[in-house]
Amino acid sequence: MQLQEQDQFQDFHWMIEMLQTIDVGVVVLNKEYQIKSWNGFMENHSGIDSKDAIDACIFVLFKDMDEFWLRHKADTVFKLKNHAFSIWEQHPYIFKFKNNRPITGVAEFMYQNCTFIPIKDLRGEIDKIAILVYDVTDTAVNKLEAIKVTEELKQLSRTDVLTQMYNRGYWEETLVGEFNRFARTNRVSSLVMLDIDHFKKVNDTFGHQAGDAALKMVANTLTQTLRDTDIAGRYGGEEFSIILVDTDAKSSIVFCERLRKVIEKSEIYYAGKQIKLTISLGIYEVHTKLSTYNQWIEGADAALFEAKNSGRNQTKIYKYKDH
Ligand code: GH3
Ligand code: MG
Ligand code: MG
Repeated sequence: MQLQEQDQFQDFHWMIEMLQTIDVGVVVLNKEYQIKSWNGFMENHSGIDSKDAIDACIFVLFKDMDEFWLRHKADTVFKLKNHAFSIWEQHPYIFKFKNNRPITGVAEFMYQNCTFIPIKDLRGEIDKIAILVYDVTDTAVNKLEAIKVTEELKQLSRTDVLTQMYNRGYWEETLVGEFNRFARTNRVSSLVMLDIDHFKKVNDTFGHQAGDAALKMVANTLTQTLRDTDIAGRYGGEEFSIILVDTDAKSSIVFCERLRKVIEKSEIYYAGKQIKLTISLGIYEVHTKLSTYNQWIEGADAALFEAKNSGRNQTKIYKYKDH
């Protein structure tokens, strides 16, 4: 062998060596989607030896691969002669490899970012593409964990601990949203304020813990009575507030009365003692003349006040003309 040839062979040798050991998957495909190169990373993670991979059609070798997506990606590279990329957020993986990283054991599979590179033949025609596969499982898992924690915190910050209903802060945010929606769409909703009657007596007679149990019961009954679109929250101590979406005052009475009767009939037992409860409710249908959502609350509060003054355990409606 000539000295120059030997040098070239050396160069070729170390390049192949590097390709084999690099911690990135390297796959070369021709236009028929036959594999033309399959490096060590691909062998290790797929369990398929390069002698079995070379010349096989990639879709035959990987039956559950997203063929439509890969063809689309590769076609773009062949046609536009440009690099293309795919990121795990949009497409979690191209090859479904098991995740075997100890620190990110939570991920079932390896998240991958990929680069698609056009490869020219000696005449300058693009006849192959190289796919570089990067294992980004650590980054993906960290980010997904962070998203999950943020979601959980958001959920916690909206939730009342005792009843697991929306707390006042979040509920009021949704009320503002609903009030603004009415201004845009003119579709009426009603606001209901609900207060447990003589609740102080429940605490005084049975103790605070029994009072808590009774509150939970009311919250559960309320949640079960709601439709999916209704939005309820714990407004304060023993007071709950409900937005009945797309519901006028007349239809709201049906909901309120059903709930009131269920609570009246419920038997709550705490430490062997029976607690009887009733509730009072006030309804206020939203009105075009209202200028702030606070006025909406005030109207519902006024209706509730009237229900209390009229003897409790009943529902009252507040009308705009009374305002
Ligand atoms: P009314 O029929 O006029 O509504 O009478 P009430 O006794 O229900 O009203 P009042 O506002 O005088 O008392 C409310 C009571 O609710 C007093 C308060 O200690 C109790 N309360 C508020 N929050 C909680 C809670 O989280 N747990 C328990 N056990 N009691 C609570
Ligand atoms: Mg009360
Ligand atoms: Mg009260």
